Amino acid sequence: EAITVQELANRMAERTSDLVKTLFKMGTPVTATQTIDQDTAELLVTEFGHIIKRVSDSDVEIGVGGEADVDTDLQPRPPVVTIMGHVDHGKTSLLDALRGTDVVAGEAGGITQHIGAYQVTLKSGAKISFLDTPGHEAFTEMRARGATITDIVVIVVAGDDGLMPQTIEAINHTKAAGVPMIVAINKMDKPGSDANKIRTALLQHDVQVEAMGGEVQDVEVSALKKTGLDELTDKILLQAELLELRANPDRMAEATVVEAKLDKGKGPLATVLVRRGTLRTGDIFVVGTESGKVRALVNDKGQQVKEAGPSVPVEVLGLTGVPMAGDNLAVVENEARAREVALYRQQVATAKRTTSAPASLESMFSAISATKAVEFPCVIKADVHGSVEAIVSAVNKLSTDDIKVRVLHSGVGGITESDVTLARASGAPIIGFNVRPNAKAREAAQQAGVALKYYDIIYDLLDEMKLAMAGKLGPEY
Ligand code: GDP
Repeated sequence: EAITVQELANRMAERTSDLVKTLFKMGTPVTATQTIDQDTAELLVTEFGHIIKRVSDSDVEIGVGGEADVDTDLQPRPPVVTIMGHVDHGKTSLLDALRGTDVVAGEAGGITQHIGAYQVTLKSGAKISFLDTPGHEAFTEMRARGATITDIVVIVVAGDDGLMPQTIEAINHTKAAGVPMIVAINKMDKPGSDANKIRTALLQHDVQVEAMGGEVQDVEVSALKKTGLDELTDKILLQAELLELRANPDRMAEATVVEAKLDKGKGPLATVLVRRGTLRTGDIFVVGTESGKVRALVNDKGQQVKEAGPSVPVEVLGLTGVPMAGDNLAVVENEARAREVALYRQQVATAKRTTSAPASLESMFSAISATKAVEFPCVIKADVHGSVEAIVSAVNKLSTDDIKVRVLHSGVGGITESDVTLARASGAPIIGFNVRPNAKAREAAQQAGVALKYYDIIYDLLDEMKLAMAGKLGPEY
Protein backbone atom coordinates (compact mmCIF):
# COMPACT_ATOMS: atom_id res chain seq x y z
CA GLU A 1 0.00 0.00 0.00
CA ALA A 2 1.04 3.61 -0.49
CA ILE A 3 1.26 6.58 1.82
CA THR A 4 1.66 10.29 1.17
CA VAL A 5 4.86 12.01 2.23
CA GLN A 6 2.80 14.33 4.41
CA GLU A 7 1.12 11.49 6.27
CA LEU A 8 4.41 9.66 6.78
CA ALA A 9 5.92 12.87 8.15
CA ASN A 10 3.03 13.14 10.59
CA ARG A 11 3.52 9.59 11.78
CA MET A 12 7.25 10.07 12.14
CA ALA A 13 6.76 13.46 13.79
CA GLU A 14 9.20 14.94 11.32
CA ARG A 15 8.93 17.96 9.08
CA THR A 16 7.44 17.23 5.67
CA SER A 17 10.05 19.43 4.01
CA ASP A 18 12.85 17.34 5.56
CA LEU A 19 11.31 14.18 4.17
CA VAL A 20 10.95 15.69 0.73
CA LYS A 21 14.58 16.80 0.86
CA THR A 22 15.79 13.36 1.88
CA LEU A 23 13.68 11.70 -0.79
CA PHE A 24 15.18 14.02 -3.37
CA LYS A 25 18.68 13.01 -2.25
CA MET A 26 17.62 9.36 -2.49
CA GLY A 27 16.67 10.01 -6.10
CA THR A 28 12.90 10.10 -5.59
CA PRO A 29 11.70 13.62 -6.31
CA VAL A 30 8.13 13.91 -4.97
CA THR A 31 5.96 16.58 -3.41
CA ALA A 32 4.37 16.43 0.04
CA THR A 33 0.98 15.28 -1.20
CA GLN A 34 2.26 12.58 -3.55
CA THR A 35 2.26 8.97 -2.44
CA ILE A 36 5.29 6.73 -2.13
CA ASP A 37 5.33 2.95 -1.93
CA GLN A 38 6.01 0.83 1.15
CA ASP A 39 9.63 0.10 0.24
CA THR A 40 10.50 3.74 -0.29
CA ALA A 41 8.69 4.63 2.95
CA GLU A 42 10.72 2.04 4.85
CA LEU A 43 13.96 3.28 3.36
CA LEU A 44 13.05 6.77 4.34
CA VAL A 45 12.18 5.76 7.89
CA THR A 46 15.48 3.90 8.20
CA GLU A 47 17.23 6.94 6.80
CA PHE A 48 15.73 8.99 9.58
CA GLY A 49 16.87 6.42 12.13
CA HIS A 50 13.43 5.39 13.19
CA ILE A 51 12.40 1.91 14.03
CA ILE A 52 9.87 0.83 11.51
CA LYS A 53 6.47 0.23 12.92
CA ARG A 54 4.08 -1.05 10.36
CA VAL A 55 0.56 0.17 10.76
CA SER A 56 -1.51 -2.51 12.45
CA ASP A 57 -3.23 -4.98 10.14
CA SER A 58 -6.69 -3.88 11.11
CA ASP A 59 -6.01 -0.32 10.10
CA VAL A 60 -4.36 -1.31 6.84
CA GLU A 61 -7.02 -3.72 5.75
CA ILE A 62 -10.02 -1.85 6.92
CA GLY A 63 -8.63 1.55 6.15
CA VAL A 64 -9.91 3.29 9.24
CA GLY A 65 -8.47 6.76 9.53
CA GLY A 66 -5.99 5.94 6.83
CA GLU A 67 -6.34 8.95 4.60
CA ALA A 68 -3.74 11.62 4.82
CA ASP A 69 -4.48 15.26 5.44
CA VAL A 70 -3.59 17.83 2.83
CA ASP A 71 -1.08 20.35 4.08
CA THR A 72 -3.40 23.30 3.52
CA ASP A 73 -6.06 21.71 5.78
CA LEU A 74 -3.73 21.59 8.75
CA GLN A 75 -4.18 24.13 11.52
CA PRO A 76 -2.13 24.77 14.66
CA ARG A 77 -3.22 22.68 17.63
CA PRO A 78 -2.42 23.01 21.36
CA PRO A 79 0.45 20.91 22.78
CA VAL A 80 -0.24 17.85 24.93
CA VAL A 81 1.94 17.72 28.03
CA THR A 82 2.78 14.96 30.52
CA ILE A 83 4.39 15.64 33.89
CA MET A 84 6.88 13.14 35.26
CA GLY A 85 9.32 12.97 38.12
CA HIS A 86 10.22 11.27 41.39
CA VAL A 87 7.56 10.62 44.00
CA ASP A 88 6.93 13.61 46.29
CA HIS A 89 8.76 16.05 44.03
CA GLY A 90 5.46 17.79 43.34
CA LYS A 91 3.92 16.35 40.15
CA THR A 92 0.38 16.41 41.50
CA SER A 93 0.83 19.82 43.11
CA LEU A 94 2.17 21.22 39.84
CA LEU A 95 -0.71 19.74 37.84
CA ASP A 96 -3.13 21.37 40.27
CA ALA A 97 -1.29 24.69 40.17
CA LEU A 98 -1.24 24.71 36.36
CA ARG A 99 -4.91 23.91 36.31
CA GLY A 100 -5.39 27.05 38.34
CA THR A 101 -3.89 29.15 35.53
CA ASP A 102 -6.99 28.50 33.41
CA VAL A 103 -8.87 31.73 32.78
CA VAL A 104 -12.13 30.15 31.63
CA ALA A 105 -12.62 27.71 34.52
CA GLY A 106 -13.94 30.39 36.86
CA GLU A 107 -16.16 32.31 34.49
CA ALA A 108 -17.72 29.18 33.00
CA GLY A 109 -18.80 28.15 36.47
CA GLY A 110 -17.97 24.52 35.85
CA ILE A 111 -16.74 22.24 38.58
CA THR A 112 -13.34 20.79 37.79
CA GLN A 113 -13.72 17.17 37.05
CA HIS A 114 -10.88 14.70 36.93
CA ILE A 115 -11.33 12.92 33.65
CA GLY A 116 -7.68 11.98 33.08
CA ALA A 117 -6.71 15.10 31.18
CA TYR A 118 -7.52 18.79 31.18
CA GLN A 119 -6.98 21.82 29.03
CA VAL A 120 -6.13 25.31 30.23
CA THR A 121 -6.70 28.54 28.36
CA LEU A 122 -4.07 31.10 29.30
CA LYS A 123 -4.52 34.88 29.52
CA SER A 124 -3.08 35.20 26.03
CA GLY A 125 -5.77 32.86 24.72
CA ALA A 126 -3.25 30.09 24.05
CA LYS A 127 -4.25 26.61 25.15
CA ILE A 128 -2.29 23.71 26.65
CA SER A 129 -3.58 20.20 27.33
CA PHE A 130 -2.22 18.23 30.27
CA LEU A 131 -2.49 14.51 30.84
CA ASP A 132 -3.57 14.12 34.42
CA THR A 133 -1.87 10.80 35.16
CA PRO A 134 1.61 11.76 36.25
CA GLY A 135 4.50 9.35 36.05
CA HIS A 136 6.40 7.52 33.41
CA GLU A 137 4.66 4.16 33.82
CA ALA A 138 1.42 5.33 32.21
CA PHE A 139 3.36 7.27 29.57
CA THR A 140 5.46 4.29 28.53
CA GLU A 141 2.54 1.89 28.76
CA MET A 142 0.73 4.04 26.22
CA ARG A 143 3.80 4.14 24.02
CA ALA A 144 4.14 0.37 24.20
CA ARG A 145 0.62 0.25 22.81
CA GLY A 146 1.65 2.50 19.95
CA ALA A 147 -0.08 5.59 21.29
CA THR A 148 2.35 8.42 21.88
CA ILE A 149 0.09 11.40 22.33
CA THR A 150 2.42 13.46 24.50
CA ASP A 151 4.17 16.27 22.63
CA ILE A 152 6.22 17.62 25.52
CA VAL A 153 7.29 16.15 28.88
CA VAL A 154 7.81 18.31 31.95
CA ILE A 155 10.27 16.65 34.32
CA VAL A 156 9.74 17.84 37.88
CA VAL A 157 12.72 17.84 40.22
CA ALA A 158 12.48 19.05 43.80
CA GLY A 159 15.15 21.71 44.22
CA ASP A 160 15.80 20.63 47.80
CA ASP A 161 16.25 16.97 46.92
CA GLY A 162 18.03 16.39 43.61
CA LEU A 163 17.90 13.71 40.95
CA MET A 164 16.36 10.53 42.30
CA PRO A 165 15.90 7.09 40.68
CA GLN A 166 12.49 7.91 39.24
CA THR A 167 13.75 11.25 37.93
CA ILE A 168 16.38 9.38 35.97
CA GLU A 169 13.84 6.82 34.77
CA ALA A 170 11.57 9.63 33.66
CA ILE A 171 14.42 11.25 31.73
CA ASN A 172 15.30 7.97 30.05
CA HIS A 173 11.71 7.09 29.20
CA THR A 174 11.29 10.54 27.68
CA LYS A 175 14.47 10.23 25.64
CA ALA A 176 13.49 6.75 24.47
CA ALA A 177 10.22 8.17 23.18
CA GLY A 178 12.02 11.00 21.42
CA VAL A 179 9.80 13.59 23.09
CA PRO A 180 11.33 16.96 24.03
CA MET A 181 11.54 17.76 27.74
CA ILE A 182 11.40 20.84 29.91
CA VAL A 183 12.81 20.63 33.44
CA ALA A 184 10.77 22.27 36.20
CA ILE A 185 12.86 22.76 39.32
CA ASN A 186 10.19 22.77 42.01
CA LYS A 187 9.97 23.76 45.68
CA MET A 188 12.06 26.87 45.08
CA ASP A 189 10.24 28.43 48.05
CA LYS A 190 12.11 26.05 50.35
CA PRO A 191 15.28 27.49 51.88
CA GLY A 192 17.34 24.40 51.05
CA SER A 193 16.55 24.50 47.33
CA ASP A 194 19.49 24.87 44.95
CA ALA A 195 18.59 25.08 41.26
CA ASN A 196 22.18 25.17 40.07
CA LYS A 197 22.97 21.96 41.86
CA ILE A 198 20.12 20.33 39.88
CA ARG A 199 21.36 21.79 36.59
CA THR A 200 24.81 20.39 37.22
CA ALA A 201 23.48 17.00 38.27
CA LEU A 202 21.46 16.82 35.04
CA LEU A 203 24.68 16.97 33.03
CA GLN A 204 25.59 13.52 34.31
CA HIS A 205 22.48 12.21 32.61
CA ASP A 206 23.13 13.98 29.32
CA VAL A 207 20.55 16.63 29.93
CA GLN A 208 22.05 20.02 29.18
CA VAL A 209 19.87 22.92 30.13
CA GLU A 210 20.30 26.28 28.44
CA ALA A 211 22.33 27.76 31.29
CA MET A 212 24.79 24.90 30.81
CA GLY A 213 25.09 25.55 27.09
CA GLY A 214 22.48 22.99 26.09
CA GLU A 215 19.07 23.18 24.50
CA VAL A 216 16.79 21.85 27.20
CA GLN A 217 14.68 24.58 28.75
CA ASP A 218 14.43 24.73 32.52
CA VAL A 219 12.38 26.83 34.87
CA GLU A 220 12.33 27.42 38.61
CA VAL A 221 8.89 27.02 40.11
CA SER A 222 7.01 26.58 43.34
CA ALA A 223 3.83 24.60 42.95
CA LEU A 224 2.96 25.54 46.51
CA LYS A 225 3.45 29.31 46.22
CA LYS A 226 2.40 29.26 42.55
CA THR A 227 5.50 31.03 41.30
CA GLY A 228 7.18 30.49 37.93
CA LEU A 229 4.01 29.07 36.40
CA ASP A 230 3.73 31.73 33.68
CA GLU A 231 7.32 31.14 32.76
CA LEU A 232 6.69 27.41 32.59
CA THR A 233 3.64 27.78 30.33
CA ASP A 234 5.58 30.26 28.15
CA LYS A 235 8.34 27.70 27.71
CA ILE A 236 5.86 24.96 26.90
CA LEU A 237 4.33 27.18 24.21
CA LEU A 238 7.76 28.07 22.84
CA GLN A 239 8.64 24.40 22.59
CA ALA A 240 5.28 23.71 20.96
CA GLU A 241 5.99 26.38 18.36
CA LEU A 242 9.27 24.69 17.48
CA LEU A 243 7.40 21.42 17.02
CA GLU A 244 4.94 23.04 14.58
CA LEU A 245 2.05 21.02 15.97
CA ARG A 246 -0.78 20.93 13.48
CA ALA A 247 -3.89 18.89 12.75
CA ASN A 248 -6.87 19.01 10.42
CA PRO A 249 -9.99 19.82 12.45
CA ASP A 250 -12.37 19.31 9.51
CA ARG A 251 -12.57 15.55 9.15
CA MET A 252 -14.02 12.54 10.90
CA ALA A 253 -12.37 12.42 14.30
CA GLU A 254 -9.58 10.18 15.46
CA ALA A 255 -8.76 10.14 19.14
CA THR A 256 -6.78 8.20 21.73
CA VAL A 257 -8.25 6.77 24.92
CA VAL A 258 -6.56 8.26 27.96
CA GLU A 259 -8.69 6.64 30.63
CA ALA A 260 -11.75 4.39 30.66
CA LYS A 261 -14.07 2.97 33.29
CA LEU A 262 -17.49 1.52 33.92
CA ASP A 263 -19.79 3.98 35.66
CA LYS A 264 -22.76 2.47 37.50
CA GLY A 265 -25.17 5.11 36.27
CA LYS A 266 -23.74 6.18 32.92
CA GLY A 267 -22.30 2.89 31.68
CA PRO A 268 -18.90 2.64 29.97
CA LEU A 269 -17.04 5.97 29.90
CA ALA A 270 -13.84 6.86 28.11
CA THR A 271 -11.81 10.02 28.23
CA VAL A 272 -10.26 10.59 24.86
CA LEU A 273 -7.87 13.13 23.48
CA VAL A 274 -8.73 14.10 19.93
CA ARG A 275 -5.73 13.81 17.62
CA ARG A 276 -7.33 15.07 14.44
CA GLY A 277 -10.77 15.94 13.17
CA THR A 278 -13.67 17.01 15.36
CA LEU A 279 -15.66 14.61 17.51
CA ARG A 280 -19.37 15.40 17.74
CA THR A 281 -22.42 14.05 19.52
CA GLY A 282 -24.16 11.55 17.27
CA ASP A 283 -20.89 10.36 15.69
CA ILE A 284 -20.58 6.62 15.17
CA PHE A 285 -17.21 5.21 16.11
CA VAL A 286 -14.98 2.22 16.73
CA VAL A 287 -12.70 2.21 19.75
CA GLY A 288 -10.34 -0.72 20.18
CA THR A 289 -12.59 -3.72 19.75
CA GLU A 290 -15.68 -1.81 20.92
CA SER A 291 -17.98 0.46 18.99
CA GLY A 292 -20.61 3.03 19.82
CA LYS A 293 -22.40 6.26 19.09
CA VAL A 294 -21.54 9.45 20.95
CA ARG A 295 -24.47 10.08 23.29
CA ALA A 296 -22.85 12.96 25.12
CA LEU A 297 -19.47 14.68 25.45
CA VAL A 298 -18.39 16.09 28.81
CA ASN A 299 -15.39 18.38 29.20
CA ASP A 300 -12.93 18.69 32.09
CA LYS A 301 -15.17 21.33 33.70
CA GLY A 302 -18.04 18.90 33.93
CA GLN A 303 -19.98 20.63 31.17
CA GLN A 304 -21.68 18.96 28.25
CA VAL A 305 -20.24 20.08 24.94
CA LYS A 306 -21.39 19.46 21.37
CA GLU A 307 -17.94 18.88 19.90
CA ALA A 308 -14.24 18.51 20.62
CA GLY A 309 -11.41 19.38 18.23
CA PRO A 310 -7.69 18.48 18.08
CA SER A 311 -5.87 18.20 21.45
CA VAL A 312 -9.13 18.61 23.37
CA PRO A 313 -9.71 16.03 26.12
CA VAL A 314 -13.31 14.96 26.49
CA GLU A 315 -15.30 12.21 28.17
CA VAL A 316 -17.37 10.14 25.77
CA LEU A 317 -20.67 8.51 26.70
CA GLY A 318 -22.31 5.90 24.50
CA LEU A 319 -19.81 3.04 24.27
CA THR A 320 -20.75 -0.63 24.01
CA GLY A 321 -17.97 -1.64 26.39
CA VAL A 322 -14.94 -0.34 28.26
CA PRO A 323 -11.89 0.20 26.01
CA MET A 324 -8.27 0.33 27.19
CA ALA A 325 -5.99 3.31 27.64
CA GLY A 326 -4.07 3.77 24.41
CA ASP A 327 -6.87 2.43 22.21
CA ASN A 328 -7.58 4.32 19.05
CA LEU A 329 -11.04 5.80 18.55
CA ALA A 330 -12.04 6.43 14.95
CA VAL A 331 -15.30 7.85 13.68
CA VAL A 332 -16.76 5.85 10.80
CA GLU A 333 -19.56 6.42 8.28
CA ASN A 334 -22.24 4.17 9.69
CA GLU A 335 -23.10 1.47 12.23
CA ALA A 336 -22.60 -1.43 9.85
CA ARG A 337 -19.07 -0.24 9.24
CA ALA A 338 -18.46 0.21 12.98
CA ARG A 339 -19.56 -3.37 13.69
CA GLU A 340 -17.45 -4.70 10.84
CA VAL A 341 -14.30 -2.97 12.04
CA ALA A 342 -14.88 -3.89 15.70
CA LEU A 343 -15.41 -7.53 14.75
CA TYR A 344 -12.30 -7.54 12.61
CA ARG A 345 -10.26 -6.09 15.44
CA GLN A 346 -11.64 -8.70 17.85
CA GLN A 347 -10.55 -11.45 15.48
CA VAL A 348 -7.09 -9.95 15.13
CA ALA A 349 -6.81 -9.66 18.92
CA THR A 350 -7.83 -13.30 19.39
CA ALA A 351 -5.39 -14.47 16.73
CA LYS A 352 -2.58 -12.54 18.38
CA ARG A 353 -3.37 -14.02 21.80
CA THR A 354 -3.26 -17.56 20.50
CA THR A 355 -0.11 -17.22 18.42
CA SER A 356 2.18 -15.18 20.64
CA ALA A 357 4.29 -17.78 22.40
CA PRO A 358 6.14 -16.78 25.54
CA ALA A 359 9.65 -15.54 24.94
CA SER A 360 12.40 -18.04 25.58
CA LEU A 361 15.91 -17.09 26.54
CA GLU A 362 17.19 -18.78 23.40
CA SER A 363 15.13 -16.50 21.25
CA MET A 364 16.90 -13.56 22.77
CA PHE A 365 16.96 -10.52 20.56
CA SER A 366 14.81 -12.26 17.95
CA ALA A 367 11.96 -9.85 18.50
CA ILE A 368 14.09 -6.91 17.61
CA SER A 369 16.06 -8.59 14.88
CA ALA A 370 12.78 -8.84 13.00
CA THR A 371 12.58 -5.08 12.67
CA LYS A 372 14.95 -3.27 10.40
CA ALA A 373 16.69 -0.54 12.31
CA VAL A 374 19.98 1.21 12.57
CA GLU A 375 19.75 1.27 16.33
CA PHE A 376 20.22 -1.48 18.84
CA PRO A 377 18.27 -0.48 21.94
CA CYS A 378 18.81 -2.17 25.31
CA VAL A 379 18.16 -1.75 29.02
CA ILE A 380 21.01 -2.56 31.41
CA LYS A 381 20.72 -3.41 35.09
CA ALA A 382 23.58 -4.47 37.35
CA ASP A 383 24.32 -5.11 41.00
CA VAL A 384 26.75 -2.30 41.65
CA HIS A 385 27.33 1.18 40.28
CA GLY A 386 30.83 0.38 38.97
CA SER A 387 29.49 -2.51 36.87
CA VAL A 388 26.74 -0.37 35.39
CA GLU A 389 29.25 2.22 34.28
CA ALA A 390 31.70 -0.31 32.90
CA ILE A 391 29.02 -2.16 30.93
CA VAL A 392 27.38 0.95 29.51
CA SER A 393 30.73 2.25 28.39
CA ALA A 394 31.75 -1.11 26.87
CA VAL A 395 28.49 -1.70 24.98
CA ASN A 396 28.51 1.82 23.62
CA LYS A 397 31.88 1.03 22.10
CA LEU A 398 30.27 -1.82 20.14
CA SER A 399 28.54 0.77 17.94
CA THR A 400 29.63 0.83 14.32
CA ASP A 401 28.76 3.03 11.36
CA ASP A 402 25.94 0.64 10.49
CA ILE A 403 24.41 0.06 13.88
CA LYS A 404 24.36 2.12 17.03
CA VAL A 405 23.89 0.74 20.52
CA ARG A 406 21.35 2.79 22.40
CA VAL A 407 21.18 2.24 26.15
CA LEU A 408 17.64 3.35 26.93
CA HIS A 409 18.09 3.03 30.64
CA SER A 410 20.69 1.70 33.04
CA GLY A 411 20.75 1.39 36.76
CA VAL A 412 21.65 -0.47 39.89
CA GLY A 413 19.25 -3.11 41.19
CA GLY A 414 16.95 -5.90 40.12
CA ILE A 415 14.91 -5.82 36.91
CA THR A 416 11.55 -4.16 37.54
CA GLU A 417 8.20 -3.93 35.76
CA SER A 418 9.06 -0.39 34.77
CA ASP A 419 12.20 -1.68 32.99
CA VAL A 420 10.03 -4.21 31.15
CA THR A 421 7.53 -1.59 30.03
CA LEU A 422 10.32 0.58 28.69
CA ALA A 423 11.99 -2.34 26.92
CA ARG A 424 8.71 -3.43 25.40
CA ALA A 425 7.90 0.04 24.09
CA SER A 426 11.22 0.14 22.25
CA GLY A 427 11.53 -3.54 21.34
CA ALA A 428 14.69 -3.79 23.43
CA PRO A 429 16.18 -6.69 25.42
CA ILE A 430 16.98 -6.31 29.10
CA ILE A 431 20.47 -7.25 30.19
CA GLY A 432 21.00 -8.18 33.81
CA PHE A 433 24.49 -8.36 35.22
CA ASN A 434 24.49 -10.25 38.50
CA VAL A 435 20.83 -9.30 38.95
CA ARG A 436 17.50 -11.01 38.31
CA PRO A 437 13.96 -9.75 37.77
CA ASN A 438 11.39 -9.86 40.53
CA ALA A 439 8.42 -12.19 40.01
CA LYS A 440 6.14 -9.50 38.59
CA ALA A 441 8.75 -8.26 36.17
CA ARG A 442 9.49 -11.79 34.98
CA GLU A 443 5.82 -12.42 34.35
CA ALA A 444 5.41 -9.09 32.55
CA ALA A 445 8.43 -9.80 30.36
CA GLN A 446 7.11 -13.19 29.42
CA GLN A 447 3.70 -11.80 28.50
CA ALA A 448 5.16 -8.96 26.47
CA GLY A 449 7.80 -11.11 24.78
CA VAL A 450 10.63 -9.01 26.16
CA ALA A 451 13.97 -10.84 26.09
CA LEU A 452 15.72 -11.11 29.46
CA LYS A 453 19.36 -12.08 29.49
CA TYR A 454 21.58 -12.60 32.52
CA TYR A 455 25.36 -12.54 32.74
CA ASP A 456 28.04 -12.67 35.36
CA ILE A 457 31.01 -12.29 33.02
CA ILE A 458 31.27 -9.05 31.09
CA TYR A 459 33.10 -10.62 28.10
CA ASP A 460 30.25 -13.09 27.57
CA LEU A 461 27.84 -10.22 27.59
CA LEU A 462 29.81 -8.27 25.00
CA ASP A 463 30.37 -11.32 22.77
CA GLU A 464 26.68 -12.17 22.67
CA MET A 465 25.74 -8.61 22.04
CA LYS A 466 28.12 -8.42 19.11
CA LEU A 467 26.55 -11.53 17.63
CA ALA A 468 23.05 -10.21 18.15
CA MET A 469 23.97 -6.92 16.52
CA ALA A 470 25.50 -8.69 13.53
CA GLY A 471 22.38 -10.83 13.25
CA LYS A 472 20.26 -7.76 13.31
CA LEU A 473 22.04 -6.19 10.40
CA GLY A 474 21.40 -9.27 8.32
CA PRO A 475 23.52 -11.03 5.69
CA GLU A 476 23.39 -8.19 3.18
CA TYR A 477 25.81 -6.14 5.26
P1 GDP B 1 4.06 13.89 43.71
O1 GDP B 1 4.22 12.62 44.49
O2 GDP B 1 5.23 14.11 42.79
O3 GDP B 1 2.76 14.01 42.99
O4 GDP B 1 4.17 15.09 44.77
P2 GDP B 1 3.02 15.95 45.46
O5 GDP B 1 2.47 16.95 44.55
O6 GDP B 1 2.07 15.02 46.13
O7 GDP B 1 3.86 16.73 46.54
C1 GDP B 1 4.58 16.08 47.58
C2 GDP B 1 4.74 16.98 48.78
O8 GDP B 1 5.51 18.11 48.45
C3 GDP B 1 3.41 17.52 49.29
O9 GDP B 1 3.45 17.54 50.67
C4 GDP B 1 3.36 18.93 48.70
O10 GDP B 1 2.61 19.79 49.51
C5 GDP B 1 4.81 19.31 48.72
N1 GDP B 1 5.11 20.29 47.66
C6 GDP B 1 4.83 20.20 46.34
N2 GDP B 1 5.26 21.29 45.68
C7 GDP B 1 5.84 22.09 46.60
C8 GDP B 1 6.48 23.37 46.55
O11 GDP B 1 6.61 24.02 45.49
N3 GDP B 1 6.98 23.86 47.70
C9 GDP B 1 6.88 23.19 48.88
N4 GDP B 1 7.40 23.76 49.97
N5 GDP B 1 6.26 22.01 48.99
C10 GDP B 1 5.75 21.45 47.87
